[in-house]
Amino acid sequence: MAAGDANSKPIQIAVTGGKGGTGKTTVALNLSLLFSRDFKTLILDYDVENPNALILSGIEQDKITFSRKVYQFIPVFKGDKCVRCGACVNACNSNALLLPREGPPTLFENLCEGCRACKLVCPTDAIEDGRKLIGEMHRVPLTDSLELLYAEIVPGFEKSGYMAMHLRRLEKTVSREGFEILVVDTAPGAHCDVLRALMGRNMALLVTEPTPFGEHDLRLIIDLVKLIGLESYIVINRSNIGDTSRIYNIADESGIEVIGEIPFDEEVFKSHVHSKPMVLHYPDSSFTRALTEIYGKLKKIIGDRLK
Ligand code: SF4
Ligand code: SF4
Repeated sequence: MAAGDANSKPIQIAVTGGKGGTGKTTVALNLSLLFSRDFKTLILDYDVENPNALILSGIEQDKITFSRKVYQFIPVFKGDKCVRCGACVNACNSNALLLPREGPPTLFENLCEGCRACKLVCPTDAIEDGRKLIGEMHRVPLTDSLELLYAEIVPGFEKSGYMAMHLRRLEKTVSREGFEILVVDTAPGAHCDVLRALMGRNMALLVTEPTPFGEHDLRLIIDLVKLIGLESYIVINRSNIGDTSRIYNIADESGIEVIGEIPFDEEVFKSHVHSKPMVLHYPDSSFTRALTEIYGKLKKIIGDRLK
């Protein structure tokens, strides 16, 4: 079945990179815009603590076509039914409950994981369903053939993985609408949330830069993609600010190909300041030329899989 049919699965390309500030989202957004010239494309911003693909796209929030609030279960205690047995406190692995000298247990909301174990073990049905708002998911068209899905957790909520799980569920539903390409912009780092965003993808682009921090974090993210056997390619961003031979050495050691280099380009700053994506507003820039070359290579790599 050809990609783009409602029943076929899109090709999924993750854009990741160990450290923040390597230009990962800039690459992901502009690559999505290039893909959208040839394919119906969906970009997903999994950096739920700091989603900025929409800001970089220059599209205003009033263009959002769909929003959904996300809530997490929290226990609500009915004092008249509670016999103070302590079963819920013992069942809570997150230490979110405390049995005071009198009355029902006290909840420390920010420690609660929403697992419902407390409610399951309560012998007197003294726990009712409560909920707290943890964030919101949004869908917004960026062009005729490119849409963005992103989520944002409420300030102070620390469990970003929970929000990312909800975004992944929404992604599954939306991606069945005939999308041919999914570009997944992960959170920075090499932690559980990044791993979850990478799982099940067809390939990953590892965006790095030729600096000691870039090298260090590239090694971490390579360990992660190797762990899950994900086909990967290295993109060296700001390639002319340091010694790229060290990145090529890491590529050789790991057997991961460098698919392209993007030189440092001052126009990227202008693009960020004015929220004008590079490939749309700076088509002759060195950034756009280099990324277009990478896009051409990617198209060849995935070409057969789209037929
Ligand atoms: S829902 Fe889970 S984490 Fe929250 S209080 Fe109950 S047992 Fe603890
Ligand atoms: S398990 Fe139920 S009855 Fe026992 S302390 Fe908790 S709320 Fe009260």
